[in-house]
Amino acid sequence: MKLMEDRVRRDAVIENGDVLKVGTFLNQTIDVPFIRACADEFYRLFRDEHVTKVLTVEASGIGLACLVALPFGVPVLFAKKSRSSNIAGGVYTAPVFSFTHGTQHEIMVPCNMLGPGDRVLLIDDFLAKGEALHGMLELCKKAGATAVGAGIFVEKAYQGGGDELRAAGLRIESLARVTSMTDDSL
Ligand code: 5GP
Repeated sequence: MKLMEDRVRRDAVIENGDVLKVGTFLNQTIDVPFIRACADEFYRLFRDEHVTKVLTVEASGIGLACLVALPFGVPVLFAKKSRSSNIAGGVYTAPVFSFTHGTQHEIMVPCNMLGPGDRVLLIDDFLAKGEALHGMLELCKKAGATAVGAGIFVEKAYQGGGDELRAAGLRIESLARVTSMTDDSL
């Protein structure tokens, strides 16, 4: 999507060689009209998939997922990274290694919030090695839900997660693909 490619080129900053900082429009600061235009693009791509739920992981995915869910007219479910006292009853869990924090944690959703009737669109800000998507796919599998595909704002294609998941059959639509982390390649 040209709009996203131009924005990454203009505003994204490379940090420590491997992390793209997008805090001026995608994380921390969320440029709402811009994200709304991205949401319309995801809707154009996935409108025939009969999506019933948008799934993401807390925290940075939530605001984006809410805007994506708007044109679909469906709720957002976000996986939590820790079991809080207000989760009653059973949960589906999946391990995820965090690219940005360098730590392993579990993500979880309550069993009564995801089920066999759901057709799920996975949303995340970044796709790098595919850990977060793997985790969300595992939650869907445990719940018996169908993952219809993934909508990614920025794919760091050189890290391979997208290729691996596509080869495994997941439909992934990325609005921008970064092929290497040098200022000229953005
Ligand atoms: P993956 O799980 O695919 O290895 O990495 C994706 C997750 O790590 C996303 O949820 C995102 O929050 C975070 N992430 C990966 N690479 C970057 C990056 O370059 N910049 C930012 N801001 N987050 C990233």
